[in-house]
Amino acid sequence: MGSVVPLRPDLVNMEGYHSPQVDVAVRLNTNEAPLPPPQAFLDALAEEVRTTPFHRYPDRRAWDLRRALADLHGVRPEQVFCANGSNEVLQCLLLAVGGPGRTAAVFEPTYRLHSHIAHITGTGVAIGQRHSDFSLDLQEVARVTTEADPQVTFLCSPNNPTGMAEPKETVEAVAEAAPGLVVVDEAYGQFAPWSALSMVSDDRAVAVVRTYSKTWSMAASRLGYLVGPGDLVEALEQVALPYHLDSLKQAAGRIALRFRAEMEARIAGVVEERGRVAAALAELPVETWPSDANFILFRPLRVEGAKVWSELVKRSVLVRDCSAWPGLDGCLRVTIGTPAENRAFLDALTEVLG
Ligand SMILES: *Cc1c(COP(=O)(O)O)cnc(C)c1O
Repeated sequence: MGSVVPLRPDLVNMEGYHSPQVDVAVRLNTNEAPLPPPQAFLDALAEEVRTTPFHRYPDRRAWDLRRALADLHGVRPEQVFCANGSNEVLQCLLLAVGGPGRTAAVFEPTYRLHSHIAHITGTGVAIGQRHSDFSLDLQEVARVTTEADPQVTFLCSPNNPTGMAEPKETVEAVAEAAPGLVVVDEAYGQFAPWSALSMVSDDRAVAVVRTYSKTWSMAASRLGYLVGPGDLVEALEQVALPYHLDSLKQAAGRIALRFRAEMEARIAGVVEERGRVAAALAELPVETWPSDANFILFRPLRVEGAKVWSELVKRSVLVRDCSAWPGLDGCLRVTIGTPAENRAFLDALTEVLG
C-alpha cells in the first residue's frame, strides 16, 4: 500500500543502511572501541555537567572544541568543522558541495554511507571499482573522474570494510586527477601509517573527516569533524542547523583530547589483538585481507557467509554481514574486541566452520 504522504519518489526504493542491533553477548559488528573511556574522562565530564548553563543555547560555533582540535592537528580553528558524528559531517558536505545536478564519485567496495548520503541529498553517484585486492585503481579513478566530472570524490583510508590504508602517493595522485573536492574519510585514521591531514591547506581542495566514534571510545556521543580549507568550513557552517552541537557534546569532545596518551595505548592494545585474531583466522578455512584498522574482513571458504553469520548469532556473537554487498560476495567483517570477546568469536567460528 502506498503512503498517505507524498514522499519523494526517489526515497521510496532506497535501501536503508543499518547494522541489525541483535541482542547478543559479543557485539563485534560496528567497529567501536572495545573499552569505555577512562574514568578520569567521565569524572571531568561530570564536573562539566554540573557547571553547564543549561538554560542557554550552546556556543554556536563550538569554538573551544574547534580550537582544541586545531591544536591537536596543527591547523587553524577556522579549518575545523564539527558535527553530530562524521555522518553528519558528510551530510553537510554533500549539502554544501553536492545536491541536484552534481555528482560524488566513490570506489567500491567502500563505506556505503558515502553513496547513501549522496542519494539522500539528491547528489548523483558515479561508481568506480577497486582492484580485486581492494586497492585503489588509479586508472579507474581517472576514468570515473573524467567521465563524471564529480564535485566530490570520496576516499576512505583505512577503507571500511576492506581494511587497508591508501598509500600517500595514491591519495596525492587522486587529488591531482579529481576535478573537485577530495574527501578522505579517516574514521580509522589513528591506526594508519600516515594521515592526509598533512595534505590539508586553504588553497587545496582536500578535506579529511574524522570521528570520535571509534578510537576515542565515544560512539555514544555522536561527534565527528572535518579538517579542510577555510572557505569550505564556512560553507559547512552555513548548511548546518543553528546550535546543532549541544554543550555537553562540545565539552566531551574537548575533554577527551586531554586523554590522548590513554587513547594511543588502547590503539596499541587493539593492534596487538588484531595480530592475534589474524593469526587465528589464518589457521581456519577462510580467506582474509590485511587490515590497518580495528576490524578484519574475511570470507569463509566452505560455508556460505550469510549462513556463518546466522550460526555465529546463534552462539551469541554478532559480526557484520557484508556477504550481499557489491564486490564482497560471501564476506563478513569482524571488529577487534577485548581479548575475551575475540576468543569467544574465534571459538564460535571454529565450531561453525566445523
Ligand atoms: C564508523 C565510520 C564512520 C563513523 O561515523 P560516525 O557518524 O562518526 O559515528 C565514518 N566513516 C567510516 C568509514 C566509518 O567506518
